[in-house]
Amino acid sequence: MKVLKFGGSSVASAERMNSVSEIVKSKLRKDKRLIVVVSAMGGLTDQLLDCSTLAQQGNKSYSKKIDEMFERHTEAVLQLSGETGLQRLLPTMQEKTDNLRDLMHGVFLVHELSPRVQDCIVSYGELMSSLILSDFMNHSGVECKWVDSRNVLRTNSDFSAAKVDFKTTNANIKKLLRGKAKLFLMGGFIASNEDGVTTTLGRGGSDYTAAIMASGAGADELEIWTDVNGVLTADPRKVSKAFTLDSMTYEEALEMSHFGAKVIHPPTIQPVLESNIPLRI
Ligand code: ASP
Ligand code: MG
Repeated sequence: MKVLKFGGSSVASAERMNSVSEIVKSKLRKDKRLIVVVSAMGGLTDQLLDCSTLAQQGNKSYSKKIDEMFERHTEAVLQLSGETGLQRLLPTMQEKTDNLRDLMHGVFLVHELSPRVQDCIVSYGELMSSLILSDFMNHSGVECKWVDSRNVLRTNSDFSAAKVDFKTTNANIKKLLRGKAKLFLMGGFIASNEDGVTTTLGRGGSDYTAAIMASGAGADELEIWTDVNGVLTADPRKVSKAFTLDSMTYEEALEMSHFGAKVIHPPTIQPVLESNIPLRI
């Protein structure tokens, strides 16, 4: 069993989602079981946050931003759908978008944006990307079980930076894996508290979700797919001679991420370190 995580740039368009699907298919030829964790489409979490700020300020243009986000998702679905019948996902997406609009309208009316409401709003990004990719995989002939991360990852109620309750979460992961599915697909970053209210793990938290899943599942490996070639000696935008490191210890990775390396989200290392699961970028 492996856990693969694909970030926002890897699911930013229909074309990129198609590449993810190809990678997952080729992995499935070797690995018996996979858990795939995805971020929201690149830039979407920022757009959701900007949109909610507009609503909070009483600026009606928030509504147009919701239309734009919905269009971006429907465009991806239409481009991916071809002969697959994926368009059947559109009513579900419409329903989720209607819920988002209701939430934003509430923020607009009361001019208040609590972290609790904000978590609910940003969860839309990972929900949509994971639903689209999972349906696409199913329609292209690969059986894929979509998992609502909020039913698996249990946290406390520190909205926007919730702490994971590992005991409950690990038990939920074990329960999930008792099913027969070979391929699970879920959104990263989002979770829920003991009342089932949506929480999030903090910005960039999808890597962390993947590490939690890897550790709870006792995975053989955690692979984080990103748009840079592994961990480099320095930021390649600043240091032209930066090169990829073959390997490093968990402690080195932890240190690099704490000191600002963007490639891994800092909390990601702990669960895999404790379970001694190799992490490949
Ligand atoms: N979508 C979330 C963010 O942009 C989580 C993630 O991508 O890791 O922060
Ligand atoms: Mg990231």
